[in-house]
Amino acid sequence: METAIVNITDDRQGIEAIREKIRAAGRIIRQGGLVAFPTETVYGLGADALNPLASGKIYEAKGRPSDNPLIVHISNMEDLDRIVKKAPEQAKKLAEKFWPGPLTMIFEKSDIVPLETTGGLQTVAVRMPNHPAALLLIQSGGGFIAAPSANTSGRPSPTRAEHVAEDMRGRIPMILDGGPVGIGIESTIVDFSEEIPMILRPGYITAEMIQEVIGEIRMDPGLAAEDAKIHPKAPGMKYRHYAPKADLILVSGAKEKVQEKINELAEKAAEEGKTVGIIGTEETKDGYRYGVVKSIGTRKDETSIARHLYGILREFDQMDVEIIYSESFSLSGIGQAIRNRMLKAAGHQMIEV
Ligand code: AMP
Ligand code: MG
Repeated sequence: METAIVNITDDRQGIEAIREKIRAAGRIIRQGGLVAFPTETVYGLGADALNPLASGKIYEAKGRPSDNPLIVHISNMEDLDRIVKKAPEQAKKLAEKFWPGPLTMIFEKSDIVPLETTGGLQTVAVRMPNHPAALLLIQSGGGFIAAPSANTSGRPSPTRAEHVAEDMRGRIPMILDGGPVGIGIESTIVDFSEEIPMILRPGYITAEMIQEVIGEIRMDPGLAAEDAKIHPKAPGMKYRHYAPKADLILVSGAKEKVQEKINELAEKAAEEGKTVGIIGTEETKDGYRYGVVKSIGTRKDETSIARHLYGILREFDQMDVEIIYSESFSLSGIGQAIRNRMLKAAGHQMIEV
C-alpha cells in the first residue's frame, strides 16, 4: 500500500486548502480506512470507532494485542452522551475544565460502541484532543475516531510524522503531517467506571490539577507496584512499552553523583566495546566524557523533557546504540508522567546513588 504523507502545516497553501486535505482524510475514515494524525499529545492512528472492521485494522497495523482497548476521540461535548451510558457529574466538571485537552476518561459504554473498539470491555475511554486538525478530522470522519498512538506496538510513541512513517509506511493510506507535537507524552487516563475515580495512567494533567476540580482521586496501585503480580488496570500499561532497542538504565540521585556514576558506567561499557548513549540535560550535557551524549531538554522546564523523550529514544535506535544511561527527573508536575514512561522504557532498571 502506498502511504501518502500530507503536509497540513505549510501556511503558503492557505487555510482552506489545508481544511480540504483534512476533509479528504475524513472521507478515508468514513470508508473504514486508517489515517494517522497529529494531536497535542502524540500522533494517533485513527479509524471509525463505531465500525468494528475499521477498528480491527488498527490492531493489525500496529501489531497490537487484541485485548488492549482504544481511546475514542470526539470533537464536541454533546457526542459524549451518545457513546457512554452515563457520565457522572464529576467527569463533566473535568471535561469542562480540561477538554479539549490531554485528559482521557473511562465510562460504561453505550450499545453503539463495538467491543472491537474496547478490546472486549464494557467500558470505553474518551478524549477530546486540543488540536485544530484533529478536531476537524474527527468532525469530517463521522464524529468518533478510535485512535491509539500511531507507533508499532512496543516502540516509542511518535511525536513527529517522520516517526509515524518509520513504523507505518506501506501499512496505512495516509499520514497527516502537522509537524512536531506540543506535549510529547500520552494523555492522563482517569477511570470513572467505579465508585471513586482513579488515575490509570499519569500524564500532563496531574493528580493535583484533578483534585482541585473534583476532590478525591486515587492512583491505580498497579502503577507503582514493583510486584509483577499486581497488574495495572489499563490493559496497555502492563506491556513493556515505549521501549528502545537498546538497554536503558536510569540513574537517580543528587546531580553531581548521578553524573559521576553515569561517567563510570559509560567508561566501563565503552571499555567492553559497547556503543553507549547518554541522556543528559542542557545543564549537564557538557560533563559527560564517553559515548553519544544527547540533551533531552532543560530542567528549568520539564515540559521540554516530556516533548523530547520519545524522539531521543528513536534517535538512539537509529544509531544502533547498545546501552543507554539516563539521568532521572523530579516527580513534581509532569515529572510523574515522565518517570512512569521512562521506567517502562527501562523495564524498571534504576540505580540509586
Ligand atoms: P494508547 O492510545 O496507545 O496510548 O493506548 C490507550 C491506553 O488506554 C492503553 O493503555 C489502554 O489499555 C487504555 N484504555 C483504553 N480504553 C480503556 C478501558 N476501557 N479501560 C481501561 N483502560 C483503557
Ligand atoms: Mg500507545
